[in-house]
Amino acid sequence: MSERNLVLLGPPGAGKGTQAERLVDDFDLPYYATGNILREAVEQETELGRKAKEYMEAGELVPDDLISEVIAERLDSGEADDGFLLDGFPRTIGQAEMLEKALDGRGRSLTAALLIDAPDVEVVRRLSGRRTCVKNNHVYHTDFDPPKNEGVCDQDGSRLVQRDDDKPETVRKRLQVYHDQTEPLIQWYEDRGLLRRFDGTREPEEVNSHIRATLATLALEAEI
Ligand code: AMP
Repeated sequence: MSERNLVLLGPPGAGKGTQAERLVDDFDLPYYATGNILREAVEQETELGRKAKEYMEAGELVPDDLISEVIAERLDSGEADDGFLLDGFPRTIGQAEMLEKALDGRGRSLTAALLIDAPDVEVVRRLSGRRTCVKNNHVYHTDFDPPKNEGVCDQDGSRLVQRDDDKPETVRKRLQVYHDQTEPLIQWYEDRGLLRRFDGTREPEEVNSHIRATLATLALEAEI
């Protein structure tokens, strides 16, 4: 079977993480969410974490070279040889160029960039109620997708918390950074024929079926 080398694009809170959880189950892909990787590094006070912390707290992007290194390491780990799902990377044209070059150098290429889009008002509404579990980053929402027991993850029993950068001022900053630095990637991937769009305001189940249908078509096309 052909490789599935995928990136998820879209504003914070559009549902990338939720869709990723399903895609990982559906297709058994290694999942690299740079935000999760960086938060873990900050918590464990590694060198990467120390360098990334200030940028993250301000809702700004960490420098391209820092994050590109993290991705290159994963590509060379062996576990991503049949495919991968990237979430939160690339976030700038520079990072997209780095990824293109890194894959090219390994005789590989991207299968698709999956854009899950949602308007700013929806994003703010969702992020303000978002809670994630401390153990595995499972995602809930206080109003739309509450856990069975308040403050406790249904899947692994760990504590649910609000991410520091989901507080209102930081959310506004992250959205501005998304519009300024990440949105240009939509056209960039469109120009390369790799962009596939999905409506993130739909029910997660519906978005998931659209993505699966698109991936099935892409797999068929690759075989022709
Ligand atoms: P996320 O969980 O994807 O919203 O990421 C949280 C924060 O981690 C962002 O606001 C950035 O500070 C940092 N971050 C995550 N991915 C990247 C990336 N690809 N490039 C730069 N900074 C990133």
